[in-house]
Amino acid sequence: MIPLEEARDFVLGKVQVLGFEQVGLLSARGQVTAEAITSSENVPPFDNTAVDGYAVLAADTQGATENSPVVLTVLESIAAGNSPKEILQSGECSKIMTGAPIPIGADAVVMVEWTNQGANSHLVNITRGVSVGDHIRESGEDLVPNDLVIPEQTLLNSAHLGLLASLGIYEIKAIKKPTVAVFSTGDELIEGTQNLEPGQIRDSNRFSLISLLEKDGFQTQDLGLIADDESAIEQTILEASKTCDAIVTTGGVSMGDYDFVKIVLNRIGDMRWMQIAIKPAKPFAFGIVEGTPVFGLPGNPVSSMVSYELLAKPALKKMMGCPKLLPTYFWGETVGSFKRREDGKTHFVRVIASADETSLKVQPAKRQGSHQLTGMAEANALAILPDGEGLEPGSSLQFFFLD
Ligand code: AMP
Ligand code: MG
Repeated sequence: MIPLEEARDFVLGKVQVLGFEQVGLLSARGQVTAEAITSSENVPPFDNTAVDGYAVLAADTQGATENSPVVLTVLESIAAGNSPKEILQSGECSKIMTGAPIPIGADAVVMVEWTNQGANSHLVNITRGVSVGDHIRESGEDLVPNDLVIPEQTLLNSAHLGLLASLGIYEIKAIKKPTVAVFSTGDELIEGTQNLEPGQIRDSNRFSLISLLEKDGFQTQDLGLIADDESAIEQTILEASKTCDAIVTTGGVSMGDYDFVKIVLNRIGDMRWMQIAIKPAKPFAFGIVEGTPVFGLPGNPVSSMVSYELLAKPALKKMMGCPKLLPTYFWGETVGSFKRREDGKTHFVRVIASADETSLKVQPAKRQGSHQLTGMAEANALAILPDGEGLEPGSSLQFFFLD
């Protein structure tokens, strides 16, 4: 058995970052930038007000209170999107709406809550004093020309897209995301509502894996169920390698007589078959066929998902240029029993992670078998239980979230 880190480093060393493409802004979320983006404009583009109120000369408002307000003459009302027409002198103000440009002469804004109607419609009572600059958002406060807006190799989130739109940038150069083909192997597998014949089970892995891939932002191709048949597996892999950037298979990588995925990968690709010191998901095969990485995940339903999280996902993230390949690890306090036996393996325990006022907690899901998807379905995190006799309640345990 080899340590997980060795297996993962091997795989990460074999996969390449894909090329780049021009993408429209709305499809770019979750992609990684292939070039740095700099600003060509000021954001905000002009000085404007952060509140609805009155643009004033701050000096005019000194000493204003509810009982002795300062009375100012209102020159005009400036809506967002309008240009001010009047220049303010002492004793004057302009009504102004959030986002509207500050008129010349004004150096502060009094929010509408600190004013009330004056003796006639041209007058306003200011009931609190303001300082120079109050409630004014200055031009260029967020960005000025030549500022680095988004560095190269940034995973784009929704705020990045808004930021780019605010600069009038609607197309960017981003690293392609892999399209991943998925198939299940196993003569025992069927799909459908028909009654099961003796020995048959329904394929579940394709559904969990395709949805995991889609959740992680990859495009998928469902290649269906493939029998435990060398030539069928070979043909499927060769065909998929022509149209997809990566292939994920399940089953056929352990030590059984009909475990043909690893045999085919060995014959047609540059394959390494691994026994990894983890539970679940010990067997794993990784090969490159016609330049396309193939992840041979184990068949047990929980193992296939854990193997995806630990090995395939980081590699696919590397292919799309992600700067961060591994999840964020947290420490939680164990609730309940994390007993185990020493077996040379790190156990990835399906846990329910939660938080109270003082700490994160981890509690094992009820069923921990590698065939028991109910435990995986109940869990929101995987805890990393080191080799040994396990942990008492109240111990510290590292975990990462599955969403
Ligand atoms: P294998 O890795 O092919 O030896 O399969 C290990 C176990 O996982 C066996 O009990 C299989 O029946 C089961 N299994 C394999 N593939 C799937 C699948 N796609 N869906 C559900 N169970 C599977
Ligand atoms: Mg099988």
